[in-house]
Amino acid sequence: MTLVDVAIVGGGASGTTTAFHLANKGKKICILEKNRSFPTRICGGGMSAAVQDWFPFSLKPIVNEVITNVEFSWRLSDKVIAELSGSSPFWIVKREILDSFLLDQALSYGCDLLTTFNVIKIERSTNNIWQVTSLDGRQIEAKAIVIADGSQSPWAKKFNLGPKKQNYASTFSGRINRKGNLKNKTARFEFGLVNNGFAWAFPLNDEVSIGMGTFLENKNSMPVAKILKSFLPDLGFDPSEVIGQEAKLRVWNGHSKLNGEAILLVGDAASLCDPFLAEGIRPALMSGYEAAKSLNYWLEGSINNLDGYSKTMRIKWGNSMAWGKRISQVFYRFPKVGYKLGIKRPTAPERIAQILSGNMSYEDIAKRVINRLLFQN
Ligand SMILES: Cc1cc2nc3c(=O)[nH]c(=O)nc-3n(C[C@H](O)[C@H](O)[C@H](O)COP(=O)(O)OP(=O)(O)OC[C@H]3O[C@@H](n4cnc5c(N)ncnc54)[C@H](O)[C@@H]3O)c2cc1C
Repeated sequence: MTLVDVAIVGGGASGTTTAFHLANKGKKICILEKNRSFPTRICGGGMSAAVQDWFPFSLKPIVNEVITNVEFSWRLSDKVIAELSGSSPFWIVKREILDSFLLDQALSYGCDLLTTFNVIKIERSTNNIWQVTSLDGRQIEAKAIVIADGSQSPWAKKFNLGPKKQNYASTFSGRINRKGNLKNKTARFEFGLVNNGFAWAFPLNDEVSIGMGTFLENKNSMPVAKILKSFLPDLGFDPSEVIGQEAKLRVWNGHSKLNGEAILLVGDAASLCDPFLAEGIRPALMSGYEAAKSLNYWLEGSINNLDGYSKTMRIKWGNSMAWGKRISQVFYRFPKVGYKLGIKRPTAPERIAQILSGNMSYEDIAKRVINRLLFQN
């Protein structure tokens, strides 16, 4: 049986980033991916250009659109436009292209890939070697495991990692093969049509990525068709034009341990996705980068456990998400007031632009608000 340094379960954004950074350091890596190839991913593809910091190669070749303006609306009116200035704009990518680009980079450094490898069993033997088994009976052995299999991952619970209670957003994402009246380089966010959430439209050269998400637990299912019927004509489309899919997205739900002994969770499997704006690509790439750093030190014997990874993710991402979750709970419970006080404030467009471009965290925003309240009192 093949023994690798690290077996990575899932070849999405988080898994391929981890794979690239470890393969780049000369480690023997194998990605185990249940699909044969990369089908269209259920994702809006909007990400901060700040993600470039985690790669030594340029991501520009796979960026479809650089966003310079963000347009917000409340029930299709009361619009606010934010200009994304500065050096960190917001990029739109096709997720299947981003993932296969990152995979190619990992493969070019000698990483192995096993496709149609649907992981159904992960066990650690008495000699501290992991054994991973696929549905069709193939097996691979590894010194360490990275769990990167997305929002439906069963492994966090099985290994007692991640938040105690997993929280899910209900989402829909689709594409339309023409531009409609969405302005070039402009991303649109619509609040008010979706209960406890928002709808979006992102330009992708000659296509548009359309989606919606609802972020507070709701017994009723999201009325996707009804929302599309209102939203799409406003963008110059017929509702029947969009081809898309619904999905449950695991979102951040409290600080938690993301590592065990020789095992780490990354990306959606680690419940890292932003519970306010559904930003999941940046934490997927950040966690892949940080996971690889810890694993590399561990494999080289410089550290004897992977606890530093959980701590780093808490500082660099979790602290901001703790505020993001509080903001989400207040905003989506009282969205009309939230829109008026949060988005229509004179300084709000700049702040939102800073969040989207990764220049400011929810924690920074919360501290500013608290300071303002203290100062006023
Ligand atoms: C509708 C929607 C829109 C979104 N829009 C945005 C956006 O605009 N911007 C943004 O930042 N984030 C967005 N997100 C979030 C973002 O898509 C995720 O956070 C991101 O995909 C997480 O990447 P990942 O690598 O952790 O997981 P995934 O991309 O889900 O990858 C998991 C991989 O694991 C594989 N896998 C699963 N099970 C197994 C198994 N048993 N064995 C082997 N392989 C397995 C899958 O096939 C897949 O390749 C959106 C999410 C949704 C649902």
